[in-house]
Amino acid sequence: MGNDIFCRIVKGEIPCHKLYEDDDVLAFLDISQVTKGHALVIPKEHYDNFLATPTDVVNKVMKVAQRIGQVQIKMLGAEGVNILTNCYEAAGQTVMHFHVHVIPRYKEASGFVIEMHNNSEGLNLPAIADEIKQEL
Ligand code: AMP
Repeated sequence: MGNDIFCRIVKGEIPCHKLYEDDDVLAFLDISQVTKGHALVIPKEHYDNFLATPTDVVNKVMKVAQRIGQVQIKMLGAEGVNILTNCYEAAGQTVMHFHVHVIPRYKEASGFVIEMHNNSEGLNLPAIADEIKQEL
């Protein structure tokens, strides 16, 4: 167990708006509410991020994230859901404890935008694929 803010929530030292809990997983509302119902799902055990988490634990977390996304659509009237996890500061991770964001999306603009621009010009895609594949 670490001493980051999510470990402290697991230990009960900091309150949260709990959505779900079992022996391994905890889900609660994100304090920032990017959109209404924005939830976080975490393993109770400390892992720095998704990439550092054993796959059996990832599976347990993702199963809860999936269910929460389904319920956000059913109960909150969301029309879509973004499920994402940031790994390391360069990717925007601010809390170094694996967590999955489950962000309901509504008709109205929310100010939450994921933009993916096409920057493939000049890149050698076969060479990049080879670099990745050789280590898989
Ligand atoms: P990330 O930037 O992916 O590391 O996301 C961390 C998230 O944790 C942010 O969306 C914060 O709003 C959220 N957060 C930080 N502290 C708390 C807290 N005490 N309770 C709930 N959510 C929190």
